[in-house]
Formats: sequence, structure tokens, C-alpha cells
Amino acid sequence: MPAKLSPSRHLRISRSKAGLGLFARVAIKKGQFIVRYSGRKIRSDAAVKIRAIKNIKPGDEITYHYGRDYFDSFIKAVGCRCRACAKKRAEIRSQRSRRRAKSARRAKSARFKSAR
Ligand SMILES: [Zn+2]
Repeated sequence: MPAKLSPSRHLRISRSKAGLGLFARVAIKKGQFIVRYSGRKIRSDAAVKIRAIKNIKPGDEITYHYGRDYFDSFIKAVGCRCRACAKKRAEIRSQRSRRRAKSARRAKSARFKSAR
């Protein structure tokens, strides 16, 4: 395991479901430094020495949680395309579909009983 990840050797940028993503080329241990923040100037305690919060397997996409304010300001209006949000939407659709099917069965059953 490398002590410090080299972006070109240990990470790659490629297409992800949500656009362009950062992917691990090697296993990254929980707590290992991944990248240094290089965006607009922010407080140094907030400057994100970004570290892994879990073990990452080669090929896994590395994601970053920007926080609720960023999400509400930039992503919420267009809808997040990450796997977690897609899974949540699929579960909600599935629940809705089951509720509609159950409701339709009840209505059909009620019509059948009233027709007797
Ligand atoms: Zn999301």
C-alpha cells in the first residue's frame, strides 16, 4: 500500500453514472490520505485533506459529501444522480407501485363483493 497516493498512478478520472468520477486504481485503506483540496481559498482547518472514511476497493468510485447547503443550492433542483440517491428513488417508486397495486386489489375486491 502506498503511503501517499499519486493521482495518475493510483486514481483515475472517468465516466460515472453522475458525470465524471474519481476512481481508485488500487485498494485504499480507511483513513488513508486521498487528495489535497485545491479549490477556492478556505480556512486551513476546513481545507479538506481528504481521507478515506472506509476501505476502498480498486475500481470503486470515490465520492465526496459536500454538505447539505451545497446539495440544496446546486444539486437538489436537478436531482442527484449518485447511486445512493438512485437507490432511494427506486425504493420510493417500488413502494408507490406496491401501494397502487394493493389499492387496486382492494377496489377490485370491493366491486366484486358489491356485485354479489
Ligand atoms: Zn446523491
